[in-house]
Amino acid sequence: MKADVTVIGAGIIGAQTAVQLAERGLSVVIVDPGPPGGEQAASFGNAAWLSSHSVTPPSSPGVWKQVPKWLRDPLGPLSVRPGYLPKVLPWLLRYLAAGSTEAKLRQVAGELRTLLKDAPRLHEEVASRAGVPELIDVCSGLMHVYRDRAGYEADGLGWRIRRDLGITCDEVEAEELAQRQPELAKEYRFGVNVPEAGQCLNPGAYCAALVSYAQTMGARRIAARATGFRSEGGKLLAVETTQGEIACDAAVIASGARSAALAKQAGDRVPLESERGYHVTVEGGANLPGPTTSVMVSDRKVVITRLATGIRCAGQVEIASPDAEPDWRRAEIMRTHLGAVFPELDVSEARVWLGLRPSMPDGKPVISRARGIKGVVHCFGHGHVGLVSSARSGKLAAQLVTDEPPEIDLTPFAATRF
Ligand SMILES: Cc1cc2nc3c(=O)[nH]c(=O)nc-3n(C[C@H](O)[C@H](O)[C@H](O)COP(=O)(O)OP(=O)(O)OC[C@H]3O[C@@H](n4cnc5c(N)ncnc54)[C@H](O)[C@@H]3O)c2cc1C
Repeated sequence: MKADVTVIGAGIIGAQTAVQLAERGLSVVIVDPGPPGGEQAASFGNAAWLSSHSVTPPSSPGVWKQVPKWLRDPLGPLSVRPGYLPKVLPWLLRYLAAGSTEAKLRQVAGELRTLLKDAPRLHEEVASRAGVPELIDVCSGLMHVYRDRAGYEADGLGWRIRRDLGITCDEVEAEELAQRQPELAKEYRFGVNVPEAGQCLNPGAYCAALVSYAQTMGARRIAARATGFRSEGGKLLAVETTQGEIACDAAVIASGARSAALAKQAGDRVPLESERGYHVTVEGGANLPGPTTSVMVSDRKVVITRLATGIRCAGQVEIASPDAEPDWRRAEIMRTHLGAVFPELDVSEARVWLGLRPSMPDGKPVISRARGIKGVVHCFGHGHVGLVSSARSGKLAAQLVTDEPPEIDLTPFAATRF
């Protein structure tokens, strides 16, 4: 098989990249052993937030002090599989260090903002071109809820940084919160609404629709796993897969949490780990009790989203090998939180899911050319912001492939930064 470009991975990053490349008239092959946006992909089961304000890395100053408490708490948001700790420790220390001072936090936030700015509008545009505008709610706004103002003030630094970047964050007092979220548990008495953010109504279907759209422009799909590259004189000749070679001039590594081995073959060692997350989804229609605007429940560290298919509660950071068996007790934690935050919702029947966030320790993806093989482009490691950032990330990857000037400065996202 032959193509101009092989896109490795049909999660949301690969899907957006394939769309951008196909729209530029290039012949594209998308290789993934699973279906586009299928359950194997983080892009299937995320919380669906198009949160252009999610600019701070997961850690923050002093967060390390809370880690022992979280690890001891059976309902806690963070867990580390003991056997995996020695391997992951260097990554974990870098992860905690990334947000350890205000200056570091501001630096990452400024850089991530360049990637996330206008994200809901970018998604609206691509979804329209793909014929699925109904999957993007560009102006829903997103709401963070707290038990009280003191909880909000404890998160004050993150909100100050967002406001300093020009992001509107509206405080919502108890009475207004009760009006706007009538089914929210009454112990939540303070909120912050971010009007510029939006949400996707069905992330897996969105991803699949983008791949179908790329196919209408001639892109082809192969159900196979990419295993490496064939190159000559440092120039890419082909992507090797479990179904044979794809001869191509360029390749984009967009295989999410599984990208490190391919990146290494292309000349870059990257500290990529998976922050495993879980969801429960109560399936049903618009009449299910739940949030009006999707909510981040700050003390429980979960996001509860109203999707086209039901109410989803997503969260948890479980540090373990990507191949480790799921620990479904962690999904049960999601169920407990969902039932507590929206007591009128019957959570007894819910679908559970585990997904792998592809995470770099500094909370920023890798979007850059590979050092070892000309023609290979990295686009992975989007951690907690892979859905929201995907529309621009796909465009940037396509710009690197076609030698167009990238629309933002890519220095902060270089593979060589580690
Ligand atoms: C619980 C949870 C909640 C989240 N909530 C949000 C949110 O609200 N908003 C947001 O922006 N982000 C969120 N995220 C993060 C987001 O889902 C991810 O960052 C994003 O989906 C990553 O997309 P991806 O395409 O890089 O990886 P994936 O979606 O994982 O796709 C990678 C694909 O590559 C394929 N693949 C792997 N290896 C190979 C290979 N060798 N050859 C070919 N194909 C290969 C896989 O089969 C897979 O289909 C959340 C994540 C989780 C887990």
